[in-house]
Amino acid sequence: MRILLTGAAGFLGSHLTARLLSEGHSVVAIDNLSTGRIKNMGPFVENDKFEFMEHDVRDPITVEVDQILNFACPASPIHYQSDPVRTIETNFLGMINLLHLSKARDIPLLQASTSEVYGDPDISPQPEEYWGNVNPIGIRSCYDEGKRASETLCFDYKRQYGIDTRVIRIFNTYGPNMAIADGRVVSNFIVQALTDQDITIYGDGSQTRSFCFVDDLVRGILKMMNLPYSPDTPINLGNPNEFTMLELANKVIQMTKSNSKIDFLPLPEDDPRQRRPDISKAISLLNWRPEVELDEGLGRTIEYFSGELKQ
Ligand code: NAD
Ligand code: UDP
Repeated sequence: MRILLTGAAGFLGSHLTARLLSEGHSVVAIDNLSTGRIKNMGPFVENDKFEFMEHDVRDPITVEVDQILNFACPASPIHYQSDPVRTIETNFLGMINLLHLSKARDIPLLQASTSEVYGDPDISPQPEEYWGNVNPIGIRSCYDEGKRASETLCFDYKRQYGIDTRVIRIFNTYGPNMAIADGRVVSNFIVQALTDQDITIYGDGSQTRSFCFVDDLVRGILKMMNLPYSPDTPINLGNPNEFTMLELANKVIQMTKSNSKIDFLPLPEDDPRQRRPDISKAISLLNWRPEVELDEGLGRTIEYFSGELKQ
């Protein structure tokens, strides 16, 4: 198949590109290079099944493809909050432009949504039926509400026009190809530990996240794409093993044998206290569950950043 992948130069997009090409698909990679890096596309430029187009999904696009995967959107809070209007436009206008393409060509579209649609959840773990607890006007809203609106658009296009839309809700995923300055917790802690800088914990470190290694996520995404029908529900994809940020910091310090100390900084506004996916739907509908535990995934990510920092 010829697949349009938006956000291809980003962390997840680069892994997806590699996987799709290795499965024999052609990839039309689109990115505006705001948080993505052309370097992430380096391994593919010689591949004649790979085509890169610098394009912003907020602008309409016409391209002959058989399937769309929409991953365009900054995912790290510091980046999506640096230009909040652009973030919500990317989620809303970008989604509409890609849905128009999907409708015009009658092709399936997979949307990368997020656990952020649950906001600061009142229940744990979070099943897909949970409607969430989201501040509509806070500093995270450009992303959280943007992604909620893009989910609404996917399901409205499906109901109103019969478009095959598929929505996955991704929980905190990490691994090689994250940018050194990405700003998310795993890359921050590893880079700080490897360079003996203080580890920056926001708040008291008791907030939790559940971390999924990128290879597991990519396997789940492919299963969702290959499902012979479009499910009437979003599907959570993530690793249910939950850790506090303090546990994560200590693990990274220990694994890197770092001399870093911990620096406790103010907790950002609306930072969710907990997050853990209920993955029963992914297990029953996709026969998917994560396989890489945090220690193994962190080991591979530490190795990646050690190499990056030597360059
Ligand atoms: P990333 O920031 O590394 O990648 C995002 C990519 O989208 C970048 O290459 C960026 O340049 C591109 N982009 C941003 N705005 C664009 C626009 N208007 N037009 C074209 N390209 C644009 O982040 P990531 O972790 O790879 O996330 C990819 C997708 O997965 C995002 O939609 C994100 O919301 C979603 N997601 C990721 C996670 C995670 O833990 N990694 C969790 C939930 C959801
Ligand atoms: N965090 C932290 N130190 C950092 C970066 C993040 O303590 O250097 C915390 C952040 O406040 C949040 C958690 O780690 O509670 C996960 O943050 P991240 O930005 O990775 O993703 P989020 O799940 O908040 O979108």
